[in-house]
Amino acid sequence: MDAEQLRECGHRMVDFVADYYKSIEAFPVLSQPGYLKELLPDSAPRQPDTLDSLFDDIQQKIIPGVTHWQSPNYFAYYPSNSSTAGFLGEMLSAAFNIVGFSWITSPAATELEVIVLDWFAKMLQLPSQFLSTALGGGVIQGTASEAVLVALLAARDRALKKHGKHSLEKLVVYASDQTHSALQKACQIAGIFSENVRVVIADCNKNYAVAPEAVSEALSIDLSSGLIPFFICATVGTTSSSAVDPLPELGQIAKSNDMWFHIDAAYAGSACICPEYRHHLNGVEEADSFNMNAHKWFLTNFDCSLLWVKASQANSVVDFKDWQIPLGRRFRSLKLWMVLRLYGVDNLQSYIRKHIHLAEHFEQLLLSDSRFEVVTPRTFSLVCFRLVPPTSDHENGRKFVLRFAVGAPLTEERHVDAAWKLLQDEATKVLGKMIT
Ligand code: PLP
Repeated sequence: MDAEQLRECGHRMVDFVADYYKSIEAFPVLSQPGYLKELLPDSAPRQPDTLDSLFDDIQQKIIPGVTHWQSPNYFAYYPSNSSTAGFLGEMLSAAFNIVGFSWITSPAATELEVIVLDWFAKMLQLPSQFLSTALGGGVIQGTASEAVLVALLAARDRALKKHGKHSLEKLVVYASDQTHSALQKACQIAGIFSENVRVVIADCNKNYAVAPEAVSEALSIDLSSGLIPFFICATVGTTSSSAVDPLPELGQIAKSNDMWFHIDAAYAGSACICPEYRHHLNGVEEADSFNMNAHKWFLTNFDCSLLWVKASQANSVVDFKDWQIPLGRRFRSLKLWMVLRLYGVDNLQSYIRKHIHLAEHFEQLLLSDSRFEVVTPRTFSLVCFRLVPPTSDHENGRKFVLRFAVGAPLTEERHVDAAWKLLQDEATKVLGKMIT
């Protein structure tokens, strides 16, 4: 590693990235698949290439195939935010390039993670048991899927300890049909028998939140069959419609049956740093674990998924290798620390509110055009809507619904308006074809 070479190349890369951001709005958000194999050689070069030719290739061959998640015109899935602060943290993390599996491998990495996760827990007003100063604590995982898996494994081991190692085939998991598929995958990996994963149909009259009575009913049947209910996963901000499951009631069910209660707030957790949205976490007091993604809607470059647990090992130092699947881990707390410091909580709250306000604006536009309907009540920055079918016959068919998720860092009202104009034009075309 030549420091001067790094300085020169690093400056050029920063310029390249800054130019990319300057022109990002001009790119189509979505690109075409299956084009790259034709453009690149089928083996690695034997001799070193130049940065110039690499930049040319990035410009001409890579960028045309990039889906521009940071475009202000991006309204798909849920957002995945980047920011200058997040970038700088990533750069520094790459510079140190530590492998922080245990405290001794880089005390600053472990200790900063503990501190930043405590800060975040306080911003979310999580119960004090989730803080490192009590028995619990937070840890950064790569993704929410890993966080859910880690929580499930901890719950499984607790249940097996209580009921005996041979009871695995009796352990039952409860979630709704709106729970992210990450839970199904986690159950497979954790060895939970597929017939013991209860997928309770969410209540369509309650914005697709799960009804606690439906969970209780399934649980009673399982208990009477000699099965062992051990895990409930609730969601705050489901992936399809941002539904919020009834945490207090589900928490009570979990408590009365000595089950592990996990809350997945991957997307909507960010909104709960605002006092006016915090009530969506009421009931978190009963949770054993809670996760949210700072890499979704919190200006922290991917990957940075936060998981808190109420009970951990009571050691004087933490070895985070024991809180995750892999051994090695990156210095991810740096970027979150930088985001928190360089924005401050007040600005982060304003950032969230701005997106929710833009989503409200989009909702108003929909309501002003009788050809469209809002399908589920909007809670955060996701709007679910559809074109109203022109004849009642269509009501008998399946409902296709569109999702409009506001949350890219560069999105302004004019981008929402442009998307709305596009939708209106498409609606005119589609309805025109249906009538003729
Ligand atoms: N949980 C919820 C509620 C989500 O919306 C998502 C993704 O959108 C996930 C989990 C999975 O997130 P990740 O990609 O971090 O695993």
